[in-house]
Amino acid sequence: MSLPTSRLMLIVLSCMVLGGFVAWLAIQWMNTSDRRDERATAKQTAAVSEPIADGPKKPAAPTKLSEPETPKRSPTGSQPKVAIVIDDVGLRPNVLDAFWAIPGINNGLSWAVIPGTRFANALTRDLVARKACIIAHIPMEPIASESITSGLGDYLMVSDGPAGMLDKLRARMDTFPPSLRSQVTGLSNHQGSLLTTNQSAMTTLITFARSEKLFFLDSRTTAATIGKSVAQEQGVRVVERNVFLDNVREPDAIERQLDELLSHAQRKNHAVGIGHPYPETAVALARWFRKHASSLQLVPVSALTQ
Ligand SMILES: [Zn+2]
Repeated sequence: MSLPTSRLMLIVLSCMVLGGFVAWLAIQWMNTSDRRDERATAKQTAAVSEPIADGPKKPAAPTKLSEPETPKRSPTGSQPKVAIVIDDVGLRPNVLDAFWAIPGINNGLSWAVIPGTRFANALTRDLVARKACIIAHIPMEPIASESITSGLGDYLMVSDGPAGMLDKLRARMDTFPPSLRSQVTGLSNHQGSLLTTNQSAMTTLITFARSEKLFFLDSRTTAATIGKSVAQEQGVRVVERNVFLDNVREPDAIERQLDELLSHAQRKNHAVGIGHPYPETAVALARWFRKHASSLQLVPVSALTQ
């Protein structure tokens, strides 16, 4: 049976129109699913945030979302500035060597010493000899009182009042012999998720920092800290921590946090990371620095104060 030519043409034309419509539908569907993926990625990225409390350590995000493999240019075209502060120095001996041994790192790290702890002065002497950036790291009242650690000396407490706090601060700083104390250029908070939100206590702390000509590094152990605003009101130079590096003490997890630090620096031109004198942190730092040394400037944290 044969169809007339005009009917055959009509059928062919209909098939082409229908085919086109199906292709258009397919493209629309693919676009929608792309947008769904973007939304999912954005959600995942937002979920990777810095720990803000003093409480139990949270595990890091399992997936690496952004690893800059090639040196990227920061917004102004110069290499982004990165400061890495090693906190809680003074509790154990011989913890600095693994960091100083990292090839090329030279004098690039900053050190937060807890004055009055057992090895504080011996380690600070070593840091002074190496002309390192040294900060007095002062234990301050956390929200969770059970996380107050013994062996660190008296914490600054909100209930101390201005006079009591100043006594404790002076006693802390007096544990440094004058030759070391004169080389300390900054002050930072160990814990302090409660104290750094208290107007009266922070005013006392920052007034002390101003009288001692110290800058303030806010470790940001709580998102509610008022450290920066109080320091700015009083004309004290201040800088804030952006990324905690080693809440999970595993080299891979620490390296991911260092990548996060670099990507923050690439977005904002500078970033501050805080780690601890753990062997795992030194291992991760050595690995990460070997890969990325050429795409950043490692600076003392004092260089990022404003
Ligand atoms: Zn600390």
